[in-house]
Amino acid sequence: MERVSLLGFPIDTYNIENALEHKGQVVTINPEMIDYALQHPEYAEIIKNAELIIPDGIGIELGLKILGFNVKRIAGIEFAKRLIIKYKGEPAAFVGAKPDILEKAVGNLKSEIPELNVIYKHDGYFDNEEEILSQTAEKKPVLVLVAMGAPKQEEFIYKLKTRLPDAVMIGVGGSFDVWANEVERAPEIYQKLGLEWLYRTIKDPKRFKRIFPALPLFVLRVFKEKLTC
Ligand code: UDP
Repeated sequence: MERVSLLGFPIDTYNIENALEHKGQVVTINPEMIDYALQHPEYAEIIKNAELIIPDGIGIELGLKILGFNVKRIAGIEFAKRLIIKYKGEPAAFVGAKPDILEKAVGNLKSEIPELNVIYKHDGYFDNEEEILSQTAEKKPVLVLVAMGAPKQEEFIYKLKTRLPDAVMIGVGGSFDVWANEVERAPEIYQKLGLEWLYRTIKDPKRFKRIFPALPLFVLRVFKEKLTC
């Protein structure tokens, strides 16, 4: 069992070590992304065409469990950090977040991993996408981290994919904010229990509307899928 299907979306069930061996577009999927993709077919196609789709978070883990697959979740931020360590020394591009956050995140990562070789960086607030895509591709990075949130980051990477066919490219959401020490990750107990989403929602109640109704709807859809299989 390596790739399974959840509501029509492929999910790769490798352990983290095996997942790190893959190249191409990496999607760290969650129920909100599936909800959005079910309403936006172009986005669904981007996800379905990703080379690696990792189950990020308890929602996907639970969904897979309902379908009878016992799969351990992989936190996107941890996977991204492992990629940075794996490819340290090789050219890396960082795109996304606010300018000061980006600088701080890269600075902190460099103090932790001095070999990190950032050959291109740009914040995530631009209206000249084509230019940013060309600039990124020209530098020929081996690793590309894009922190613009879903769906923007996956759309950006998808456009970059044909120009950088051998790179590993991952959408990392709010990870730059965490690496810049602007946003804390949930305490370990929340992480262990799969309740990071709850912690983040308590800290930032605006997030509530992102998980509702997406999360309960997701669980209902999965039960429906189970019944019809
Ligand atoms: N962001 C960006 N460009 C945009 C919108 C968002 O670079 O047009 C950044 C934002 O500054 C933050 C990240 O994208 O650093 C997304 O954060 P969010 O909390 O939405 O991500 P999550 O981890 O929840 O997917």
